[in-house]
Amino acid sequence: MTLLPSRLSLNTVTVREQWSLEQCIDGCIRHGFGGIAPWRHDLHDCGIDTAAKLIRESGLKVSGLIRGGFFTADGLTVSDAVIDDNKRAVDEALAIGADCLVMVVGGLAKDTKDLHGARMAVAHGLHELMIYARPAGMPIAIEPLHPMYAADRGCINTMRQVNELCDELGPGVGAAVDVYHTWWDPNLEREIEAAGPNRLMAFHVCDWLVPTRDLLLDRGMMGDGVIDLSLIRSYVEAQGYTGLIEVEIFSRDNWWRKDPDDVLETVIRRAKEFV
Ligand code: ZN
Repeated sequence: MTLLPSRLSLNTVTVREQWSLEQCIDGCIRHGFGGIAPWRHDLHDCGIDTAAKLIRESGLKVSGLIRGGFFTADGLTVSDAVIDDNKRAVDEALAIGADCLVMVVGGLAKDTKDLHGARMAVAHGLHELMIYARPAGMPIAIEPLHPMYAADRGCINTMRQVNELCDELGPGVGAAVDVYHTWWDPNLEREIEAAGPNRLMAFHVCDWLVPTRDLLLDRGMMGDGVIDLSLIRSYVEAQGYTGLIEVEIFSRDNWWRKDPDDVLETVIRRAKEFV
């Protein structure tokens, strides 16, 4: 089905080098986007109350707040500081009316090689967070990251792991499915099906460039890479996902250098053609 701009949400990282949050909101409205997905530092730069007011008045939906997590930042025992910061992230997500708070869970603890321990710490941190987030009514969306980030960003790397965590943690927690992180997974369709509608909380698109020149900052515009985007969209929509399709492109050497209005026009055109 052809994607209208009203189905799209702009993850503000896509024009991070060009626009402030205020400019992103204006840009989304100008181009007819249905939603926006800000980062916490956007809210802090703008002031949370001001950001919440601007977003509310814009009529844009918020497909997610990026991001909580990093449970292993202070070691394999999740610190109070980390939990408190995640609770603040929940409060901020509530303030802006976000559909979910996206979790980048954290990688190995500093100076360790204990991947299993890191995963145990993440499960523990999420458990602690859910005690706060569940009664507050803020859905927590775990974003499985591509395994190349297991050491430094996220040690939850597949939808299978997310489903297992969700089974442990109970309601209110689900997945943010980002094609960049999940496209390679031979079990993707099966695990998206296992997640089902309640756990599919966000869907992020961009493309995988060949070659990829930077592990973090060289994501492609939809259509410039090798991901079968419409196929993965069909997996999530087969489960009843009707939420926004969030465009999230980290691109230091290309899209961050372009006129942001051109970037948004390109996003709309490519989403229609390739997603
Ligand atoms: Zn993402």
